Amino acid sequence: MDQKFIEVINDLKSYLEYLQGMGIQSLPASGMEINNPSPSQMITLEEVRKELGDCKRCKLHRTRKTIVFGEGNEKAQLMFIGEGPGYDEDVQGRPFVGKAGQLLTKILQSVNLPREEVYITNIIKCRPPQNRNPEPDEIQSCNPFLMKQIDVIQPKIICTLGAFASQTLLKTDAKITALRGKFYDFEGIQVIPTYHPAFLLRNPERKREVWEDMKKIVELLGSDAGSI
Ligand code: URA
Repeated sequence: MDQKFIEVINDLKSYLEYLQGMGIQSLPASGMEINNPSPSQMITLEEVRKELGDCKRCKLHRTRKTIVFGEGNEKAQLMFIGEGPGYDEDVQGRPFVGKAGQLLTKILQSVNLPREEVYITNIIKCRPPQNRNPEPDEIQSCNPFLMKQIDVIQPKIICTLGAFASQTLLKTDAKITALRGKFYDFEGIQVIPTYHPAFLLRNPERKREVWEDMKKIVELLGSDAGSI
């Protein structure tokens, strides 16, 4: 089948799943305008969190301790999306609070971005057993909630941390080494993939590249940098 056609079908599928996640169960008959709801005008992060509830939509609910929804500024110009909670995040219910999280905080400080002014979340909200990689059905179950978080916050820039977040958001299987450091469009939002802080803990010599990426972000934020 033609690749372009497959992409269109996949996009349509994601859009329908997104609408379903918004509680829209049917579409108007053909010829009628779809009055696209603007979730950002209708809902808050608190409401998205409420809708997620005590989520049992995928198998991760059996082994998680806490749902790690995300935290930060609801009006952030800059949003970070990581992979999924690890041990410390699962215990504390907050994203990026373990060793990798502490490094992320330091990276932000190095370019004068206060952590509490950005928004930080993950593509999956529950810790996979033994910190294994997220599985496609888990990413799929969580995706409508990530989309709603993005819709509510409407950041100017999203920085995806590591391969999973970058590939999921950009719907690509390109390697993180190829993706990192460049800006891509996601529904009008600039997305810049960079290395995951956990990778930097194992490969500290790659920190410079992430620092370069942070500088690009600060530059693009420009005058918005004061109100991240
Ligand atoms: N790694 C992630 O991807 N996310 C977290 O919240 C913590 C570690």
